[in-house]
Amino acid sequence: MSTRHSVFAAALDAIGKSGLGNLLAPLTRGLGVILTLHRVRGPSGRGFSPNNILEITPDFLDVALACLKSLGYELVTLTEAVARLRTGRGRTPFAALTFDDGYRDNLTEALPVLEHHSAPMTLFVTPGFAERSTRLWWIELEEALRRLEHVRIERAEFSFEALARSDDEKARAFEALYWRLRDMPEVGRLAIVSGLSEEAGVNIYALVDRLCLDWDGVAQMARHPLVAIGAHTLTHPVLARCDEARMRDEMAGSREAIRRRLGVTPAHLSYPFGDRQSAGLREFETAAELGFAGAVTTRPGVLFSAHARHLHALPRISMNGLFQDARLFETLVSGVPTLIWNRGRRCDAA
Ligand SMILES: [Zn+2]
Repeated sequence: MSTRHSVFAAALDAIGKSGLGNLLAPLTRGLGVILTLHRVRGPSGRGFSPNNILEITPDFLDVALACLKSLGYELVTLTEAVARLRTGRGRTPFAALTFDDGYRDNLTEALPVLEHHSAPMTLFVTPGFAERSTRLWWIELEEALRRLEHVRIERAEFSFEALARSDDEKARAFEALYWRLRDMPEVGRLAIVSGLSEEAGVNIYALVDRLCLDWDGVAQMARHPLVAIGAHTLTHPVLARCDEARMRDEMAGSREAIRRRLGVTPAHLSYPFGDRQSAGLREFETAAELGFAGAVTTRPGVLFSAHARHLHALPRISMNGLFQDARLFETLVSGVPTLIWNRGRRCDAA
């Protein structure tokens, strides 16, 4: 676990043990919560797995849903969540589940658990993944580092060198590379990861094929009564780094591609990466202008009535693979940790 995550886990644990979460929940949990999920699969059991924050086990999904029910939460669709924000009505807190990217295990591992709990979900689909034309560069980077013992990148705009023999060294190299890559222009980023993938023998499109639903799989999900399909851009870029035209095209184009392929029009959008550096006011305004009923970020937080005025900048709480524990989860949805994180601000939509 990185230092940042250890500190956060310790804070969550302390808030839980102090009873503060339970005590303050009626004041801090807000109207409800939107949960972010990515992959759902059995424990990977490998030492170096830097993307494991983006996956939980089916067992923990089951535990978390049971926990929400025992706390009195109603499991609702995202459409219903947005409707309740608009009207401010409903005395019971609600939780809406959202899954980003469109992984195969959402169908095979997550859906049976959701069926068991009658829990609806929104699947945010990136057409480029379904078509195997967009790359999961952050997973490529993990796969490449797993196989390499030494990383050396020499480019005009980017140089990096690190040993990657042990799991610790690999984790440090990943952490350092990931953030530098996230912040750089897409062409350069993909070229660098391509170089590492080639050196390590990672087949980049086979990886997408192995992990992501194809259109048939997405269609199968779309036919399920518990599943709504949302848009997650065409090629999963950092939208804030795209020029205006591409940013609009990524949003509108993904909705159109899904409509063409599946005959359903996504009502909601999820911004790729979704943090402050990846989506801001320009993206929120564009999503509203394009007619999405709501759009979700990965800014951490629960939902308050103030969000009714910011339906295209909705916060979510990530079901983080590092915190797969019922008590930590209960503390998270109490809204106390995110309120502290947001320095007491309930709504952060700027
Ligand atoms: Zn995504």
